[in-house]
Amino acid sequence: MELIADFQLHSKYARAVSKYMDLREIERWAALKGIHLVVTGDWQHPKYFPEIVESLEEVNSGVFKIKGSDLGVNFILGTEISSIYKQGGKVRKVHNLIFSPSISTCEKIIDALLKKGANLSADGRPIIGISSKNLLEMLLEIDENIMLIPAHIWTPWFGLLGSKSGFDSIEECFEDLSPYIYAIETGLSSDPRMNWQIKEFEHRSILSFSDAHSGPKMGREATVLIMNNELRIDNKNRIPTYSDIIGAFKMDRNSMLEVGYTIEFFPEEGKYHTSGHRNCNIKYSSEDLKRYGETCPVCKKTLTIGVENRLSELSYKHISDQELSFRSNEVGLTFISDKGNTKKPYVSMIQLQEILIEVYKSKAKALREYDRLVLGFATEFDILLRKSYQEIESFGGERLAQAIQIVRERKAYIEPGYDGVFGKIEIFPKDKGLF
Ligand SMILES: [Zn+2]
Ligand SMILES: [Zn+2]
Repeated sequence: MELIADFQLHSKYARAVSKYMDLREIERWAALKGIHLVVTGDWQHPKYFPEIVESLEEVNSGVFKIKGSDLGVNFILGTEISSIYKQGGKVRKVHNLIFSPSISTCEKIIDALLKKGANLSADGRPIIGISSKNLLEMLLEIDENIMLIPAHIWTPWFGLLGSKSGFDSIEECFEDLSPYIYAIETGLSSDPRMNWQIKEFEHRSILSFSDAHSGPKMGREATVLIMNNELRIDNKNRIPTYSDIIGAFKMDRNSMLEVGYTIEFFPEEGKYHTSGHRNCNIKYSSEDLKRYGETCPVCKKTLTIGVENRLSELSYKHISDQELSFRSNEVGLTFISDKGNTKKPYVSMIQLQEILIEVYKSKAKALREYDRLVLGFATEFDILLRKSYQEIESFGGERLAQAIQIVRERKAYIEPGYDGVFGKIEIFPKDKGLF
């Protein structure tokens, strides 16, 4: 049994989010995509919280579903908070995910935030003046089962280790509370292989979620939970509890679940992978940065330093291809781990709508075909990760099967993203004479 989890997304109460993003919309897209576990997002928002309390029923401790629904999608109470504060003489901006074990714990957190003067109604992802460390301290005092996970840890703005307003280490940010940071979320612009080069991450879970602002973006990155081997027989078919999920992230050997693998963007597709200035049309690779420096030749200001470069600055070793294992499963999907299999593996994927746009070269046609496939054939993740090429070809055509094969075999070309511009995918690069 595999449970696909996406624990970072936003509701319509957060800025720049689709007006359709309510619990039903989140559930509907999770079902189409084959995501089993999602978060509510934004539960501290004063308009959204009553909707959550009203619409959800608890199916196992800390795990909920929409009342009367049988789509098989379960929710946990998860949100994201933006802390903007001064520490060590610098302005810091850090986004943290917060998971709560119960509605009553959410109420206590909301009370505590309001007492500290937080404005919770302005935005579903509120900005508070409380430091990440003080926030964590406050949460642990309320309930030690609350979990805080730094989000998109490398993004230049708002990432804990980001180049613009982050720290140089988890330790620098959380000081003596660092041991309570059990996991990190890596964001779209980095993948586990890059993160295995960071010493501080070696005993922490490396997780990936979508940070979706609309249904179609859900699951663009996700974490797959599997049954803990030793416990497999007793627990078959039980809906997990909040503790089972958090236990997996804490790498607790007694938890029913463990992290099986993560589903990742090709990091080049992320919008902060490499460095540059989009308005000045300047894009620098790590080598360019070394050669030409960090000043923009057009506007003379400092470039937005991408994740690739920031990560290599903070890494303690370089992992080469020779140290990795690339394993192809029975449907040709490539799993990457280290040679000794000590790391949780990952797969890199491109969203089905993006693949279809490459196949049809027409967005309208691609979206129609997407609906036909996920409504009539299989969930998006079944198509991307599990269906054989023959099955895909018989339902979706030869070119789609070819495209998915190229992605599963990691042969798609991606022009790297930079300074807020997403990378550009080319599955069938004509100019390279491949197809
Ligand atoms: Zn964020
Ligand atoms: Zn510039």
